[in-house]
Amino acid sequence: MKELLPLLPRPSRYLGCEWGVARKDLSRVRGRVALAFPDLYEVGMSYLGQKILAQAVNEREGLYAERVFAPCVDAAAILREHGAPLATLETDTPLARLDAVAFSLTHELCYTNVLYMLDLAQIPLRANARASWDWPVVMAGGGACYNPEPIAEFLDLCVLGDGEAILPELVERIGAARRANRPKAEFLRELAALPGVYVPALFAWDGPDAAVRSLLPGHERVEKAMLPDLSAAPFPTAPTVPFGQAVHDRYTLELARGCTRGCRFCHAGMVYRPVREKTPEELGDTLSKAIAATGFEEVSLLSLSTGDYSALEKLFDTVFDRCAAEQVSISLPSLRVGSLSEHIMGRIASIRRTGATLAPEAGSQRLRDVINKGVTEDALIAHVRTLFEHGWQQVKLYFMIGLPTETDADLDAIVDLCLKVRDAAGRHVKRLQVTAAISPFVPKTHTPFQWEPQISMAEIRRRIYRLKDAFKPHKRVTLKYHQPEMSFLEGVFSRGDRRLGPVLESAYAKGALFSSWKDFLRLEPFLEALAEHGLSPEEFQAGRDPAATLPWDHLDCGVSREFLLAERRRAHAASVTPDCRYGACQGCGVCNHEGRKSRLTQQAATQDIRPRVVFARRDQEAASPPILPVEGREVVQGDAPESAPSPAAETHVDLNERQAQYRVWYEKRAEAAYLSQLELQSILERALRRARLPLSFSAGFHPMPRLSFGRALPVGVESACECLTITLREALRPEAVLAALRAQMPTGLTPLRIESLPVLKRPEQPLRERFTLRYSGTAEDVARWRGQWAEFMARENFLFDRKSKNGPKATDARRMVASAELQADGSVALIFDWSSDYMSPKALVLAVNAPITPLAARLLKVGQEFQNKTGQG
Ligand code: SF4
Repeated sequence: MKELLPLLPRPSRYLGCEWGVARKDLSRVRGRVALAFPDLYEVGMSYLGQKILAQAVNEREGLYAERVFAPCVDAAAILREHGAPLATLETDTPLARLDAVAFSLTHELCYTNVLYMLDLAQIPLRANARASWDWPVVMAGGGACYNPEPIAEFLDLCVLGDGEAILPELVERIGAARRANRPKAEFLRELAALPGVYVPALFAWDGPDAAVRSLLPGHERVEKAMLPDLSAAPFPTAPTVPFGQAVHDRYTLELARGCTRGCRFCHAGMVYRPVREKTPEELGDTLSKAIAATGFEEVSLLSLSTGDYSALEKLFDTVFDRCAAEQVSISLPSLRVGSLSEHIMGRIASIRRTGATLAPEAGSQRLRDVINKGVTEDALIAHVRTLFEHGWQQVKLYFMIGLPTETDADLDAIVDLCLKVRDAAGRHVKRLQVTAAISPFVPKTHTPFQWEPQISMAEIRRRIYRLKDAFKPHKRVTLKYHQPEMSFLEGVFSRGDRRLGPVLESAYAKGALFSSWKDFLRLEPFLEALAEHGLSPEEFQAGRDPAATLPWDHLDCGVSREFLLAERRRAHAASVTPDCRYGACQGCGVCNHEGRKSRLTQQAATQDIRPRVVFARRDQEAASPPILPVEGREVVQGDAPESAPSPAAETHVDLNERQAQYRVWYEKRAEAAYLSQLELQSILERALRRARLPLSFSAGFHPMPRLSFGRALPVGVESACECLTITLREALRPEAVLAALRAQMPTGLTPLRIESLPVLKRPEQPLRERFTLRYSGTAEDVARWRGQWAEFMARENFLFDRKSKNGPKATDARRMVASAELQADGSVALIFDWSSDYMSPKALVLAVNAPITPLAARLLKVGQEFQNKTGQG
C-alpha cells in the first residue's frame, strides 16, 4: 500500500509512523494480529478499546498487534485499481499474511465495513471459505458482539467481554497453531473452551422460532470474559499519538468500568457490569506518565458515568494541578445530573468552559422512572443553575423518543423541561442557548427493554415534527435530532439473527458503506437486500414474546434473564430500582457474593468476580453518613494520602513570558513528507511538550504555545530544510533546546540545527525556496518532462487556472520561477521566487509537466532564503 501514498487522499491515515507506534523484530514474533477498526483512521484512533488491546498484546514479548482502518472509498478505488491489498499501518503487511485479524464492533452500522475491509484485503468473506491457514483467523470483539448473529457467518470467532483479558492468549495460541499447521476447525473448537470465546460455527440455528443450539455437547452458553480487577489489567501509558486528526484527539484515562445505575435502555450499563474502579493514586501515576510520554494537550477522564467515580473529588484535584502546570485541559464526558460537586464545577470553570451536556433522556418524571434514569426535575434545575452561576452559557440536553410507554404528553414534557432549564438562567447569562438533542430509542439486547417494539420511521418522524413545532415559538432553545434512518437500521441489526448475513453481503455489494456517517448512509441497499431475501425490517424491530427464545440467548453477559424480566415489569409499573453501588445488591447475577454463585460460572471457579469499590462513599458527598459495605463487597477504607503540591501550586509561573526565540531547522523526509501542515503543527507542539521546554503561551481562554512555521510544504513533498520558530519563557542554551527536541521527534522529522533570534512578534517568511525535482519514468518520458522546463523558462508567461478556496484562479506560474536548471543526474534544480505571489510548488510542477502522475515526480526542498539569511539542507 505504501508505494501508493502519493495517490491516496489524506495519506497520513496510512503512514503508521506516529509517535509511540509499536515496533517489533518480526523474526522474533510468534503471533501477529491486525487490530482492525471498521471506520476511518480518525474515528478508530479515538477509540480507547483499540489502544488497550494494542497494549495488552504488545507488552507481551513475541506478540505483535498492528493497526488497520477502513480506507475512504476514494483510497479503496486506488487500491483496487493497482491490485494492492489492504495492509497494516506499522509494517505494510497485507492482512491475509497475518495470523489473525481482530475487528472492533462498536455498533451495528459498521457491519458492511467489515466486509469491505476483508474484501479489500483479498480475504474470503465467509468463515467457511477460510478453512485453511492460507487465511488468518478473523475475529471480533466490542459491544455489538453480545449479539453478533447477523455477522456471525463472516467471523471465525467473537470475544465477549473484556477483550484484553483474552486477546494476548488467543494471538499466542493462533500463532502456534498456524506454525504447527493444526487442523483449523479442530483448533477453533479448542479455543471455544476459553472464557468469552464464541465460535459461531459451533452453534446452529434452525429458524426464527428456534433457539441457537450448540453443536458441542457441554458448551451450551458462552460467558463473557471479565477482568476482576482493572488495576492489574494492561492500560496504555504511552499510546500511539495520532496525527492530529482524530475525532477525540486526547489522552483518555479510564477511571472505572461498569455502571450499576440500572438505566433500563442502556446496553453498556448491563453488559459491562459489575463496577470496577481504579484508585486515584494509580490514576494520577498513569496520567503523569502519559502526559510526559505523549505530549497531549487534553486529557479525558472516562467511564460510563464519570461523575459516579467514587473518589472523583480527590482525583480531580490531583489531576487538575498536574494538568494546569502543563497547560493541559481536562474533559469529563458522560456526566450525570447531580454527579459533580460545586467544587469540581468551579475548578473546571476556571480553566475552560465548553458547553455542558446532560442526559435526562425523558421529559416527564413518569417516563424517567420507567427507564430508571434516577434524575428528578429539581436535581436537573439545581445542576444547571450551578452551571450558569459558574459562567456556563450553553447547555445541551439529551433525550430519547420512542421509549416504551411514551405518549405525546411525554414529548410535550421535553419542551417544558427545556424551557424550565432556559428560565433557570439569570439575566447575567447573555449568550444563553439550550439545545435538546433527540435520538430515537432502539431496543438493545441484554437490557430490560430487549422485548419492546421499536417505533416505525413514520412515527419517529411524526414525533420529531411535533417537537420541532413545539420548539419553534421559543427563543434560546433549539432542537437537534439524530437521523431516523440510522436508528431504523440499528433497530434491524441490533436484535437480528443469522438470516441477516446474506442481507449484509447483498447490501455491501449494492454499495452500503460507512452507514454511521450522515453523508454516506443510504437505506436503499439494505431495503433492497432485505426484500431480495424475503425479509422485512419490521420483523426485527417488532416486540418479542418474553416466553420465546431470543437469537442471543446463548450469549451470557452475566445479567440474568429473570433480572431483566423483573426490571421490565418494574418499568411498566414506573417503579425505580436503586443503584447497587452504594446500596443493597439488586440480584442481577453478575457478582459472586459469598454463598451465592455468579451467573458467570465458568470463571467463578478460577476468578474472584466481585464488584470492587474503592471508597465506601463518594468523596464529594462529605455531609452524608458513611454507607456500610454490603455483604461480599470489597471496600478499601480510608482516604489516600494527600497528593504532593504541583509545581503550579508552589510558585506562580507566568506562562505568557517571552524571553527567547529560536529557529529550529529540521528535515521532513520519507513517510513524514505526507503529513499536512495542520498535522505537522500538532506533532511539533506535542514534541515540544514532551521535551518539557518552557514554552511561552498566548494569553486568553485557550492559551496556545507560541510557535511559527515556514511556508506550508505540500503533502508528499520532502524537505531537507524546514524551519520552526519557537518562543520560550526562559532563555536556554540553543544546543540544549536542540538536544531535548531531537529525542522527541517522530521518524522522518529530524532536527538539524538551531539559531537564536531576537524575540519578534511575527517571525519572517522566506522569499525564495530551492527544490530538487526528480522523475521516475521511461527515458523518453523523463526527457520530455525536462524539455518542458526548458520551454517554460523560455516563455514570457505561463498562464493556467489553479485551484483556490474561491474556485479556479488565473495564475502566471512563470513569474514564480526564478530558475530551472537541468542537472546531469537527470534532476531539475528549481528556485521559486515568492516575492510577488505564492502557490503550491507541487501544483506548479504538475501544471508545467501536465499530464503527469504524482507517482512520477518527487520534489525535495533543499534551501530557503530569508531577507538576510539562507537556510540550507
Ligand atoms: S450482582 Fe448485585 S451487586 Fe453485583 S452488579 Fe448485580 S445488582 Fe450490583
